[in-house]
Amino acid sequence: MTAAMARACVLGAGVMGSQIAALLANAGLEVDLLDLAEGDEPAGRARAARDGLPRRRPPALYLPEFVARIHPGSLVAPGAALARADWVIEAVVEDLAVKRRLLEQVEAHARPDALLSTNTSGLSIAALAADRGEGFARRFLGVHFFNPPRYMKLVEVIPGPLTARATVEAVSRLLRTRLGKGVVECRDTPNFIANRLGVFAVMDALHRMAAVGLSVDEVDAVTGVVLGRPRSATLRLCDLIGLDTLLHVAGTAHAGLPDDPARGTFLPPLAMRAMVDSGLLGEKAGGGFYRKGTHDIEAIDTSTLTYGPRGRVEVSLPTRGALGDRLAALLRTAAGGDRLATFARDHLLATLGYCAGCVAEVADGVEDVDRAMRWGFNWEQGPFAIVDAIGVQALRRAFADAGLGAPALLDRVAAAQPPRIYCQVQGTGFALPLAGPAVHRPLRPAGPADDAALLAAGETLMENEGARLVYLGDGAAAIELRGRLNVLGPAALSLARDAVEGEAFDCVALTGAGAHFSAGADLKLVLAFIDRKDWQALEEYLRLFQEATAAMRYASVPVVAAARGLALGGGCELCLSAMARVVAGELRIGLVEAKVGLIPGAGGCKEMVRRFGGDVDRFFATLRDGQMSDNAEHARALGFVDAGDELILDEERILQPAMARARALADGGWTPPEPAMLSVAGATTLGRLEAQLQERATAGQITAHDAAVGRALARVVCGGGDDGPVSEQRLLELEREAFLQLCGTEATRARIAHMLDTGQPLRN
Ligand code: NAD
Repeated sequence: MTAAMARACVLGAGVMGSQIAALLANAGLEVDLLDLAEGDEPAGRARAARDGLPRRRPPALYLPEFVARIHPGSLVAPGAALARADWVIEAVVEDLAVKRRLLEQVEAHARPDALLSTNTSGLSIAALAADRGEGFARRFLGVHFFNPPRYMKLVEVIPGPLTARATVEAVSRLLRTRLGKGVVECRDTPNFIANRLGVFAVMDALHRMAAVGLSVDEVDAVTGVVLGRPRSATLRLCDLIGLDTLLHVAGTAHAGLPDDPARGTFLPPLAMRAMVDSGLLGEKAGGGFYRKGTHDIEAIDTSTLTYGPRGRVEVSLPTRGALGDRLAALLRTAAGGDRLATFARDHLLATLGYCAGCVAEVADGVEDVDRAMRWGFNWEQGPFAIVDAIGVQALRRAFADAGLGAPALLDRVAAAQPPRIYCQVQGTGFALPLAGPAVHRPLRPAGPADDAALLAAGETLMENEGARLVYLGDGAAAIELRGRLNVLGPAALSLARDAVEGEAFDCVALTGAGAHFSAGADLKLVLAFIDRKDWQALEEYLRLFQEATAAMRYASVPVVAAARGLALGGGCELCLSAMARVVAGELRIGLVEAKVGLIPGAGGCKEMVRRFGGDVDRFFATLRDGQMSDNAEHARALGFVDAGDELILDEERILQPAMARARALADGGWTPPEPAMLSVAGATTLGRLEAQLQERATAGQITAHDAAVGRALARVVCGGGDDGPVSEQRLLELEREAFLQLCGTEATRARIAHMLDTGQPLRN
């Protein structure tokens, strides 16, 4: 197998092929993207698809210019592109005969060591490889991306009967480390795991909807968040996937699963068939179960296929709190006879029953199915974690209440000790095996040790509600920010500051627990100070913030930030203050203080001035507009990630590389930097920026308060209007002054309160 994966060839430039090409381009690969000819131009279709990528929403590419890494070509003469590929990805139309003909060409032209995969949604890998030689079959497998491939974590890997183990392992590693995907290995059964079970769930809800006579709004009101599924629930999901595609995938299950007792569920209900026949295919056709009306979204009446205003659905089921509690409430409400709750319960039980019935056929273990449903369909928890969340006895009662037979798996769970599918023993996860004695076995990890596992294996030296300091051995320690979105209150800041002072370690990494680095300052606290007019307490908080960021920068040991998810406001300032950064590909970082009527007050302005000196135009508009990055490459373009910072797509494993970077800095003979004099843009530029703000305000492009915040920011980043170099200390004073002054305005108070209430910025 090719060690260095540098060039791929994607066959088919449709919805999936073009976006897979973008994903690979984001990871730095060169990609040949081939499709059928368009008119006289052999590469016409591929070119059109490639050229459309920079405009795709949500963005497929990290930066529009990455489109240059994608080279359009033609399926009419694919030889040269196939011959130079390290990885060939087939993603043409879902048709066995078409794919087989194309794979014959792949066999003829591809390099003997190239990795060969198909993106089929559910065709048999064995059938696709049937007429190919052994050399082909050993390197060929299903690598099933989900749409949109940049954002969906799941990739199913499906070995065929002759696929070499080395091929499976190489591709799984590649998907995880280079592309940041969550890999689930599947058996070669129709529609593999996520589509088999996810499409069952959709079709089951559709059949029950028809049987009970529910409206579109009613179905979606109780099959989304109520069941731990995304807001798109069932019918909005159908519109997103496309009803024709859904019928196609369901048809593959129906045709390929002659012995499946629930096979009938994969046949379309009458209304769905009628919608497809009438071209009401969903979002791509301008209408499906929903459509955009003149004013509002409208929903279809499935008995007449006419659209009308959406109905308000009164549901007394919880949408917040732990999933187990929500589902317990659902079961109680259904037992009381509520019509919608009964529908949701019966649908949930049918889905759990189906998953339990076919898990052994589609996967090696329950964890594969749970990961596939979380990563592929965005379920909050997979079906087997849901069994535990409800509890085996409560679930048995629910099956009895619903008049349904409980799956045999529940007897197995009841016989196990503890009577659960998953359990933890001394920090190690265990799961019930699908066959043999009902004794839990260690959980198969989703990959090498991730950041959470590394931290769990360390020794906690200090901890409070905002952060903890973990010793990782060999002179290395990590500060882990924690709490809701790892917001930075005084506890987190003082721990971070104290942890790096003194010379207890050789090197330190700074990271956030869970999915995010930190959403920034504790705005609740800031608002409380403002409301109490406790300016002294507010200033103390700000000084502590500045001490924490200064500690990161001037510590006697090198501190490297490991950032993923959100790193906003004060979170961004901590990141910028570290000596270096290791960042996840999807990092959303920014000095977004302007959105709440503030400016960066904890060294953020100073750090931007350090990076760009007097060239304020390089970053002023970004801070003025409170812009955050769409991804880490974009963050680099915005100036929040430095040229030498490392970017890693496998976002759950960034701590180790951050530690390695900090260790290398330490081993290279670390001397902490001294506070410096920084060159600033000075008075003339300040005057220009102020005039620009005035112009924009006069033209109605920004509000008066936007202009006021902009002026405060301009003054700080221009060094207060001094022309000569200014000290870091002076910039920090200017930051504090501006921050406190803005906190005293009613408009900033209103912005902060609105953000806390709604999560959205207020434009006042
Ligand atoms: P698509 O219709 O958008 O694109 C298919 C491409 O195949 C088109 O660009 C078309 O020009 C090309 N094509 C059509 N007939 C051809 C032929 N005879 N020979 C060669 N090429 C031909 O489809 P898509 O959604 O991108 O799906 C591509 C593959 O990915 C399918 O196997 C599909 O099952 C699978 N898939 C789709 C999704 C999804 O959500 N759309 C998700 C995962 C996997």
